[in-house]
Amino acid sequence: MSKKILLDKINVPGIKTYEVYRREGGYASVEKALKTMTPDEVVTEVKNSGLKGRGGAGFPMGMKWSFIDKKSGNPRHLVCNADESEPGTFKDRYLMEYIPHLLIEGMITASFALEAHLSYIYIRGEYMWVFKILENAIKEAYAAGWLGKNILGTGYDLDLHVHVGAGAYICGEETALIESLEGKRGNPRIKPPFPAISGLWANPTVVNNVESIATVPYIVNNSGLEYAKFGTEKSTGTKLISASGHIKNPGVYEIELGISVYEFINSDEYLGGMLDDRPLKALVPGGSSVPILPAHLIYKTANGDDRMMSYESLSDGGFATGSMLGSGGFIVYNDTSCIVRNTWNFSRFYHHESCGQCSPCREGTGWLEKVLHRIETGHGREEDIDLLWDIQRKIEGNTICPLGDAAAWPVAAAIRHFRDEFEYHVRFPEKIKNRDHYVAEP
Ligand code: NAD
Ligand code: SF4
Repeated sequence: MSKKILLDKINVPGIKTYEVYRREGGYASVEKALKTMTPDEVVTEVKNSGLKGRGGAGFPMGMKWSFIDKKSGNPRHLVCNADESEPGTFKDRYLMEYIPHLLIEGMITASFALEAHLSYIYIRGEYMWVFKILENAIKEAYAAGWLGKNILGTGYDLDLHVHVGAGAYICGEETALIESLEGKRGNPRIKPPFPAISGLWANPTVVNNVESIATVPYIVNNSGLEYAKFGTEKSTGTKLISASGHIKNPGVYEIELGISVYEFINSDEYLGGMLDDRPLKALVPGGSSVPILPAHLIYKTANGDDRMMSYESLSDGGFATGSMLGSGGFIVYNDTSCIVRNTWNFSRFYHHESCGQCSPCREGTGWLEKVLHRIETGHGREEDIDLLWDIQRKIEGNTICPLGDAAAWPVAAAIRHFRDEFEYHVRFPEKIKNRDHYVAEP
């Protein structure tokens, strides 16, 4: 069994409740931080841990915390991004639903480190039942004296609120989330300034993912260097992976970073192998925004090294031969999957979710969807494949927020690795129409 940091207590009966969570040692990190450490010492531990942000971008968490301007005298805020909406990603929901006090504990310890006195959890509107679980956990934490005025008699005050989104994927982008929290339409802001300098109500703000914040208690209890003993040198610790698609055991897994992709897919401890033992065709390792990997690059990198579940190994070779660990939304496809249909489906999503502020994204996502739809339904033209390539190139890097890139990359990777499948759709429209799945011609 590999190391469990976040899910080690997940099966303890009643762990959702304050009493059981506390009995199992919960809230120890708050006690330790508030009574025996300075805020800067907590920041140092998180820096020492090497933890990379678990929302998708993988930005070092300790470095992000150290950007916060504590000298300006302006109030500071911690905002937890629980707007988990990346297709294929459902690990934060699992944590919040089954062990909500771990996030609350992490919020208190992290807010103390940032010297914040008003913090928020922004949760997607579709997670309404989880919102209620969090609200109840916060109420329990207030009643037990972990939130509010003069926590543990240390003089530290903290208020924590949960805010529910209204179903827009773009509100998971940190500046759109902040706009939404301020009561405005969730349009991303131009960065810089980054939220660490000017965030919620123009105050210094850290926006961190649920899983990242839930890791803080372990780091404070055991030290950053102890955490960094797990995983690899560049990808320390453990990571939650939400696995779906053609596998025997879909679900949420905590893995130690650095295990091989082969082991993750095939061992009984994790995914248990391919569904019905059909061949593996492709894999999206980090949510719909990251490039798809074809079978020959799933277990081996282009250099012939074993592909590992880590930030560095999954991106090995750049987008030509690699992908990204991203949010850990691990989607597995067998040989019956149609890559064109899958790419069209993703494009439909990004077109629908584009906020419309910048033209390359607003117009480009619409064109991607339209052209992919006509190829997928057997009405594609030979030149459409190059047209798709051209459109995605015009989006990438030319937009305010990463949604544009997220719409472009899956299309680029699908054409790069599965061009023959696009050509097959264009050349044999009659075979494509009315089929319920795609199987490559022998
Ligand atoms: P980003 O790389 O722009 O930023 C990462 C973080 O680092 C941000 O918090 C940013 O403020 C901070 N940062 C970066 N440079 C900084 C600097 N110089 N000074 C201060 N702070 C700095 O990426 P992003 O827009 O936060 O996230 C994009 C990722 O989100 C994508 O890779 C995608 O995988 C992921 N994503 C996840 C979900 C989900 O449901 N989990 C949904 C959509 C997208
Ligand atoms: Fe809006 Fe798309 Fe521009 Fe992001 S890239 S700001 S989602 S239009």
